[in-house]
Amino acid sequence: MKLAGTGKVWLIGAGPGDPELLTLKAVRVLGAADVVLLDDLVNREILTHAPQARVIEVGKRGPIGSNCGKSTPQAFIERQMIALAQAGKAVVRLKGGDPCVFGRGGEEMLALARAGVDFEVVPGVTAGIGVPAALGIPVTHRGCAHGVTLVSGHLRDGAEPNWDALTRSGTTLVIYMGVANLGRIRSALLSSGMPGATPAAAIQNGTLPDEKHVLTTLTRIERDVTASAIASPAILVIGAVVDLAKIARHARLQQLAA
Ligand code: SAH
Repeated sequence: MKLAGTGKVWLIGAGPGDPELLTLKAVRVLGAADVVLLDDLVNREILTHAPQARVIEVGKRGPIGSNCGKSTPQAFIERQMIALAQAGKAVVRLKGGDPCVFGRGGEEMLALARAGVDFEVVPGVTAGIGVPAALGIPVTHRGCAHGVTLVSGHLRDGAEPNWDALTRSGTTLVIYMGVANLGRIRSALLSSGMPGATPAAAIQNGTLPDEKHVLTTLTRIERDVTASAIASPAILVIGAVVDLAKIARHARLQQLAA
């Protein structure tokens, strides 16, 4: 809780898009915030919970799906958070999904801790789990996938995931920021021995009214993503669990027809 007279930073996850996927704790903290530092993937409707707060946009768009907008350097964001907290403000750093999943939450926690600033993390629903779930894809399923691996497909400086190891892991693969490198990812998975018939999904703007998705296979995913014009922000889900969404849909249709 906020110490009297001192500032604090809350690193809050805003969830994948649907503003109702915010936690009650996030709503409570937002309602008491002096300042909100806002990421660009956060649904702006969430700001209705913080009408009193000053909002500072600190969007950071990587090269993938970049709309060529301005990007705020990470060090600047950290300095701003620290300065505001040291000035006694209740600061919310609001990020899409969960702040600690491809959200630089770890870096910000370290920067705050080093500066002696009090902070708290308010977890959010990460896109890689919440988006498939909302579509009827459970990322784990007994007898089908005993685990799930969250990886970034934003391949920079040769820092590629070990696709062979991921294929061998037998876990569901959830790939964030992977659409721009889809061709490369698909080839790497096929070369590592993953069957082309492996079920695969690509989902853009999950949990939002303009959501778009394809349920397909590893072989066909690149073609289908191009045909459906699916672009960032999107996640890829690769593994047998994707078929559960198809099975559930089919069962529902049969129920309706009965
Ligand atoms: N911290 C966030 C991830 C930030 S990285 C989280 O936990 O969800 C940004 C990437 O997340 C996007 O490029 C995309 O891959 C994924 N993403 C975020 N919101 C999404 C959504 N509504 N639908 C599909 N993918 C999404």
